Parts: sequence; C-alpha cells; structure tokens
Amino acid sequence: MKYDVVVMGGGLAGLMSGIRLTQSGLSCAIVSAGQNALHFSSGSLDLLTHLPNGQVAEKPLEMLDALKEQAPAHPYSLIGKTQVTELAHMAQSILQQAGVHLKGSCEENHYRITPLGHKRMTWLSPESVPTVGLHHKMDVSKIAVVGIEGFLDFQPQMVADELQREGLQATSHYVHLPLLDRLRENPSEFRAVNVARWLDRPENMAQMVAEISPLVTDAEAIFMPACIGLDSDEPLHELQMSLGKPLFLLPTLPPSLLGIRLHEMLLRQFRRQGGIVMPGDKVTAVNCVNGRIESVQTRNHGDISLKAKHFVLATGSFFNNGLVAEFDRVYEPLMQLDLCEISERAKWTNKEFFASQPYMAFGVKTDEKLRAQKEGKAISNLYVAGAVLGGFDPLTQGCGAGVSIISALYAANEIINELSKNKTMQVEVAQ
Ligand SMILES: Cc1cc2nc3c(=O)[nH]c(=O)nc-3n(C[C@H](O)[C@H](O)[C@H](O)COP(=O)(O)OP(=O)(O)OC[C@H]3O[C@@H](n4cnc5c(N)ncnc54)[C@H](O)[C@@H]3O)c2cc1C
Repeated sequence: MKYDVVVMGGGLAGLMSGIRLTQSGLSCAIVSAGQNALHFSSGSLDLLTHLPNGQVAEKPLEMLDALKEQAPAHPYSLIGKTQVTELAHMAQSILQQAGVHLKGSCEENHYRITPLGHKRMTWLSPESVPTVGLHHKMDVSKIAVVGIEGFLDFQPQMVADELQREGLQATSHYVHLPLLDRLRENPSEFRAVNVARWLDRPENMAQMVAEISPLVTDAEAIFMPACIGLDSDEPLHELQMSLGKPLFLLPTLPPSLLGIRLHEMLLRQFRRQGGIVMPGDKVTAVNCVNGRIESVQTRNHGDISLKAKHFVLATGSFFNNGLVAEFDRVYEPLMQLDLCEISERAKWTNKEFFASQPYMAFGVKTDEKLRAQKEGKAISNLYVAGAVLGGFDPLTQGCGAGVSIISALYAANEIINELSKNKTMQVEVAQ
C-alpha cells in the first residue's frame, strides 16, 4: 500500500496533520493504536498559559520571544514566532471547518470553569463550557449546579462552594432520573459517556425537563456535568430551550465526553477529505535506509508494508507509549530516536508536587524543521508532532494541545512544500 504520507498515531497531532495534508490533496493514512489523550481531556485546548519562569501568558503570541529565551528547545521556539502565529490562526479556521464550535482566540486566553469550580486559563473552549474573559466577571450571578444522583464523577457541592468564593450566588442540587436506574445498578458503568447514551434519547427529554425544572427556578444559568450531547449539540440545545435558561457543561472525570466529541469530529473531517484511518492497528517496525524511511510494518497488515514519501511520528508521550520509561532509562520505542537531554535519574522528578516535573519535558529531539534525528543525523522524511516531542512541559506551561496542533500543522506544511517542490522540479526536467 502506497501513500503520500503515513502518520503514526491518531490523537490530536496525528489527526490535525492528516486533515491539513488531505486538505491539500495528498493521500494520507493514519495508523492509530488505541485511545488518545483527547479521551481524557477537558475538551479545551491550551496554547500557552505560563512561561517556564512562572510568568502568566495572557496574550500567548506576545510571549513567544520571552519563551524562546527561557526555553530554546521548546517546539514553539524551534518553529519560530511568525510561523506559530500563522499556524495558530490556521488551526482556528481548520477546527471551524471541521464543525468544531469553539470559543476563544489565540490573541488572548480566557478562563474556563473546571470540574472543581476553579478558573483555568486556556485558548479555545467548547461553546457549551462556561467561560469568562480575563479581568471580567461572569455574565450571570445566580447559578444552579446540578449533579446527577449516583454519578460520582461530578460533585455539585464542590463547584458551588468555589463559585460562592468567587462572589457568585451558586446553589447545588442533585437530580434523580429514574431513566438511569438500570445504569445505576452497576456503578463502574455509571460514567459520562454511558449516561449520555441515555440522556441523548429524544424519548427521555420530557423526564429530564420535569425533574430538573423545579430545582432551577431561581437560577439565571445552570451548570451540569458533561453527560449530554455525545454525537451532536442537539439534545443540549433542546434541554436548554425547554428549561428556558442557559445551560453549561463542566468536563467530568475520564472518559471525557467533550474530548471524545472533539476527536470524533476531527476523525470525520479527515475521512470526509479522503483520509484513510487504520484504527486499532499499530506500527511495529520501521524500515529506514540511508537516513530515509521507506516503509513501516503494522500489527494488522503483517507482511504488507505501508510505503510513503513522508512519515509523521505522532505517537504521544508516556501516556500512550510513544515514549517508554524504565527505572533508569527513557526511550522512543519504534526507532530509538535521539531524545532531548535526559537528566541523571535522581533529577527526573521534583519533590515539590506542584512544581514543573523535569520528566514532563522528555521527548524526541528534532532539527528546526521538526525532523527526527538518530545518532545526531536527521531522518530526512520523518517529521515529529505532538506530545512525543521534547522540550516543553504541557502541564505547568499550559501548552499541551497547542504544541500538538501547531507542530502537526507545521510538519504537514513542510511535507506539502517539499512535495510541491519535487513536483515543480519534475515538470522542469520533463520540459
Ligand atoms: C490525561 C491527559 C489529559 C490532557 N488534557 C488536556 C487538556 O484538557 N487540554 C490541553 O490543552 N491538553 C491536554 N493534555 C495534553 C495532551 O498532551 C495534548 O492535548 C494532546 O492531546 C496530545 O496529542 P498527541 O496526538 O500528541 O498524543 P496522544 O493523544 O497521546 O495520541 C497518540 C496516539 O498514538 C497512538 N500510538 C502510540 N504508539 C503507536 C504506534 N506504534 N502505532 C500506531 N499508533 C500509536 C496512541 O495509541 C494514541 O492514539 C492532556 C494530556 C493527558 C495525558
């Protein structure tokens, strides 16, 4: 099987690169081993919220020069301020074209309300998530936080307490929905996605409205756990209309409905543009000859190799085995690629629990074009994108999704340019 590009890994980075590549008419296959970080994420996308020295980044694009000084190996520093700025705008329009309705802008971060009721800075948030502009107050002051009886992954009292500390009149409630009784019998199945499968059924709408209405009569807005609208916003819009007031969703513990929805929409857009996905398959071997990858082998395709002109490595970090840590060594398991500097074992972690943990910045080292290196030499047709990259701390710098998206689009653009250069040269030779 032969493609222009084979992408290894179908998380946020793999999908965004695949969407950009197929958008420009290239043939692209994504080999995707399993679940990805989006299934566990808030559904909000962080671009950059803090510099390594702790300085807050309210306007992320304006902080890229300072970031480069403090973290020259950060993927944004390698890609460069001009490109990061262009790609952040491109990302916003690609997400919009994919039908992902998000609020926010790369010009200025905003706050989203977390499942604990705190405010957390971010770049883009699903429209259904409650947000507030920096230095602004929330539009509503009387909020009813409604949990679902038996659903342990969301505690309305904790959210309401935190909102009260912010000066809002928040009350907490539990709604008992008999339609969920069957699910309630098995607490391990009582998770956001399974709840949504019941709440999204049109025949259950009347019961939800009847049970929730009396709890929220005094409220100006309602906050609920994100357990509704798995496949579309329609059930949420209908419930909101029936209740007659704004209804917002807070992300729950994983599996996260908001993250899963984002993943599904990107997947659909990639397929709509002609992309091929090999779900549940895994790249098991890479055939590299003279500093160039010729093909990869996968678990499900046995002897049939996948050939391509270019490859993208988007296999994620430790969380999805894109990187592997043993007691005293860290490595990239597919090709044993060069990694950013790994400190001595005793310095992998910081005793301060909330401090930046050095191991978070471990990852694959690249040249300035994001091409992987092995024993100091760049592999000319292997680009690296997403959490498998080294040089950044997604948690304390608030840049996880941003690095995945920006590096993915950067890698895709490099490939598009490279292939169109080759095409032009071929035409010139033929003439
Ligand atoms: C639990 C968690 C929650 C997060 N929440 C947020 C958040 O709310 N907001 C935010 O901005 N950032 C968040 N992040 C940061 C996150 O790193 C990025 O947002 C981003 O989703 C990472 O995407 P990725 O595609 O690089 O990697 P991943 O999402 O890890 O995807 C890698 C994919 O590659 C596959 N894979 C691995 N090896 C192979 C192989 N050999 N062959 C084929 N496939 C392979 C894996 O199965 C996986 O599907 C979170 C991270 C984690 C771990």
